[in-house]
Order: sequence, then structure tokens, then C-alpha cells
Amino acid sequence: MPQVEPDQRRSARVVARSGRVAGIPRLFDAVLLDRDGTLIEDVPYNGDPDRVRPMPGARVALDALRAAGLRLAVVTNQSGLAKGLFTTAQLRAVHARVEQLLGPFDAWLVCPHDEVDRCDCRKPAPKLIHAAARRLGTTPQRCVLIGDIGRDVTAALAAGAQAVLVPTPLTRPAETSAAPWVAADLSTAVAEILRRQTAIAPASHRSTAESAAPPPLTAVESAAPPLVKAGPARPSRSSAGTGTVLVVRSDSAGDVVVTGPGIRAVAAHARRVVLLCGPRGRAAADLLPGVDTVVVHQLPWIDPAPAPTTAPDIAALTATLAAVNADEAIIFTSYHQSPLPLALLLRTVGVGRISAISDDYPGSLLDLRHRVPVGVPEPERALSLAAAAGYPLPPDDEPTLRLRPVPPPPGRAGAPGYVVLHPGSAAQSRGLPPDLAVELVRTLVHVGHRVVVTGGPDEVALTAHVAGGDAVDLGGGTELAELAATVAGAAAVIVGNTGPAHLAAAYGIPVVSLFAPTVPFGQWGPWRVPTVRLGDPDAPCRGTRAATCPVPGHPCLSRIRPEEVLTALTLLGVAPSRPPRSAGATALARSGR
Ligand SMILES: [Zn+2]
Repeated sequence: MPQVEPDQRRSARVVARSGRVAGIPRLFDAVLLDRDGTLIEDVPYNGDPDRVRPMPGARVALDALRAAGLRLAVVTNQSGLAKGLFTTAQLRAVHARVEQLLGPFDAWLVCPHDEVDRCDCRKPAPKLIHAAARRLGTTPQRCVLIGDIGRDVTAALAAGAQAVLVPTPLTRPAETSAAPWVAADLSTAVAEILRRQTAIAPASHRSTAESAAPPPLTAVESAAPPLVKAGPARPSRSSAGTGTVLVVRSDSAGDVVVTGPGIRAVAAHARRVVLLCGPRGRAAADLLPGVDTVVVHQLPWIDPAPAPTTAPDIAALTATLAAVNADEAIIFTSYHQSPLPLALLLRTVGVGRISAISDDYPGSLLDLRHRVPVGVPEPERALSLAAAAGYPLPPDDEPTLRLRPVPPPPGRAGAPGYVVLHPGSAAQSRGLPPDLAVELVRTLVHVGHRVVVTGGPDEVALTAHVAGGDAVDLGGGTELAELAATVAGAAAVIVGNTGPAHLAAAYGIPVVSLFAPTVPFGQWGPWRVPTVRLGDPDAPCRGTRAATCPVPGHPCLSRIRPEEVLTALTLLGVAPSRPPRSAGATALARSGR
């Protein structure tokens, strides 16, 4: 049987108990708003208060945010100042008029420079986002920006904030395609921000549960300490006896990592948490805080390379489930996976309460059938299911991916501050084209970055090829824990849509995401960590969920230019750790190999 690791559990509890414990969990403290084309009609270089026209519904939408306790800031590029097209006094007059029409903002952040000034505050640079968060007393991770063009979104994501794009006729289609989250207008954007905020906060949760409503959770709203193990935080189920909760997340390491916040939420309240995962998720499960026991079984209705479904296998799985002796089960899934086969087996072993997200009618298989719109980030899906089942994330447990602390990176990686390039992926369609990876290594090393190339046991040839003589090759020998340690010591990680992107998010390491659009970026992109997305969001593979690129030449990623990656690293504040290599030094290194 898998071992219990008490220190994991304690680490989750310690984090949950430290700091402030008032209130309800919150995704967002603040909303940052672009000005022209988002709050008010875009009148180029306007210095005239009389020409300020609010966008439709703006006042009502902003008041809804204010009423929900969200702070508001405007973040705007105003190059008209540098160009001399209006004065600071005129700008102030315009902003006074905006506040007259739309109500007060808690902060105004303005970049007064022109593009040619090459300042570090003009969006898409993230400096205004960082500055706004600081002024509002929060972090970029707890901010969401609403803007109308790609550079608004880029600035927000590069700071670690979330972003909603509200396109106008001036927005380029590719900017809309690349955005993690798109809303038709300001009102819709605001409604979705508030919906997502309340989906993880049970006090105001609107569940669509059909079989059974989640327990009343009004006690959580009160000022009483919310971290009660079996009292007010879970009022109506104490009679059902929910000491042991079985949580389930099958599939890969990345899937397990993105479910982590939901599992932490359960662990903060349950006496014992048992995680059922597949063999490919096992190593990640061992790194998750809050898990007492891990049980492993490949679920043939979920695994992408499933073994045949046989009576002996199902009998073995049923016996495993019975041995857990769970009082309650929460089945976490991705949006194309079904929880129902497992729910059926759990029913047969007498689990008292079963919760899951299911678009398919569950009959009597689920006690709580939770629904989530398509496109919500995977960790938020998990958090909202946990909350609906009566397990809100404690308000002082920051809603981010998190894994257990890892030892220092392996010596071969070199001193921390290197850039990790992870070219492979279990799904070829989501990995980097090898030629691009080779070119990236060469370019990065040339400008002075130290590069560490990582990869799994079946990617040895790939990482050796990509690393060449210029980068450290850690391919093959990298167990997940060692990979996590390597990632945790990096200045940034360059990776496709695959596990190490989520490892990076879990350790707060910025990500250059070379994201194949086979699945939605908003759902699977690195969550709440500084990120720059690259790649063609409109490539023909968009939305196909293909594991192998269906388009010759892998065009969604192969057209990325190395200079774009360098620009991305600059946006993320990652500078080369060595002086640029001269051509002679490069030649020397090559001849020495
Ligand atoms: Zn500036």
C-alpha cells in the first residue's frame, strides 16, 4: 500500500493557518482597466474632456465591481504626452471627466512615453501592472485586466495577472485568438469576473447541482475562524461522517498539478485525503501538499493510451476503492473526461457522497453534479468543484499552483539563474519542433543565457540534439522530482503546453509558453504566474485536441522566431547571466566538444 506522508499534510495545514484568516477565498482583489477602447471610446490623442464618451454599460459594470469589493485602476499608454499632442493638465482634465462619468478609480497608472522612447512602462511591458498592483495593496496574481488589444493582454500575463480581451473593430483577429479569455463587451467581462470569483467562494456560490444542493455554507461568511476541521465550515455533512475524502485525478503529471489547489481546499477541512491517480501522475501526486495517501490505478476510460477494460481489472480497481473506505469522493476531471464510470464503482462500494463535474446526465451516480462553463482555467474548475462540495480554499491559502519544496537543482544544471528549455511533450503536437529548439539554444547562449535542456527518459536523443555543445543536457535522467528541482532553480522556463509549464507555475518561475492551440490557452496555459504566450493561435490545429500535429510542418510553433523568445524573456524581466558570446568564443566552444 502507498505510504502516508504526514509532512505533506502538515505543510498544507501550516500554510493554511499562517497569515490572515478572515473573509472568503478570492481570486481577485482588483480589476485593472485599459482606458481608450475599453472604458471610453478611443478618440486618438484626446486632450478634450468634452470628447470623453463612455463605452456602453461601463458605469453599471464598474459599479458592480465596486459593490463586490474589488479595487479599480486604470492602466493606460498615453504617448500623446511625449508627442506634445496634449499637456499633463489636459490629461488630468480628461481623467477628471472620466471619473465624473464612470465613478472613482483607486489608482491611475499612465505611461507618458512614446514608442521610440523604449521605456519599460509602455504596455506590453508589465511595469504598469506591477505598479498598479502595488498601489492597490495586492499582487499582480490577484489582478485581472480588461483591455481591447493584444498588448494589454501581454502586459497582464507577463506580470502574472489574468486578462480579458474585449475586442473592438480595431482589435486584430490574431490578438483575439491569442487571448486567454474573450468577452463580447465590458458588461460581459465584468459578469464573468464576478462569476469566477464567486465560483470558488461558497458563501455566494450559485451551484447548478441537480441531485443534491451543496451544504449551506453561511457559517463560512461569518467572522468566525474559518479553518474549523469539522464544525461551521462543513455544517450539514458532519452527520454523514466525512473523515476520509477520496479525491481523484487521473491522466498525466500536469493534470495532477493543476488539480492541486482543489485538493488543498479539501485537505484544509477533511481529516484524511486519499488521491487516486494514474501511473503517469504518480510522481506529481507525491509532490502535492495536502495528500495523505496516494493510490494508483490506470482508468481505461480516461488514459490516452488505455489498456483493455477487463473484468479482472475492474474487480481490482473496485477492491482498491473499497479498501480506501472513503466517506466521500470528489472526482476531478478535465472537460472532456467523464467521472461517471468511476462514480458507478464508488457507488458499488458504498461511498456515501460523490461529487463531480458532469455534462452527461448522472442519474443516481452523483450526489452533487457541478457544472462549469468551457474555457475556465483547469485549477479554477477544480477549486469550484471543491467549493461546491463544501470545501472552500481557506482565504489565506493563495490560489496558485503549489508543490512541496524541492532540494536545490542538480549540480550539473549550474548555479540558479539558468533558463530551462524543455523541448518535448508526451503529445507530439504540444512539443517544440526540434529545429526550432536547436535554434533557440543557439540564440539564447549567444546572447549570454545559460541554458539547461530537460526531457524525459524517452527524449534522450532529442535533448542531446537540442543541447548540442552549447547547453547543459539533463535529458533522460530527470525524474519528476529532479525536474521540479531543476525548474525551481531556473530564471525562466521555455516550454510547450506540457507538464513542466505547470511545474514552473507551481514554483513561481516565469514561463515562455510556446503554446500549440490544440486546446484552449485560457484553460491550459500556465496559471497565475508571469507568462508570455508565443505561437500561431489560429493554426489549423486549433481546438482539435490532437496528440499528433495534424498539419505538416507543425506550423503553429515552427514559425516562432528566436528573437520573439528573447523579447519574451525581456518582458519577463529575465536578463542574460553572462556577457554575450563573441563569434570567436562560440567557435571555440564548438571546437572543444
Ligand atoms: Zn513608459
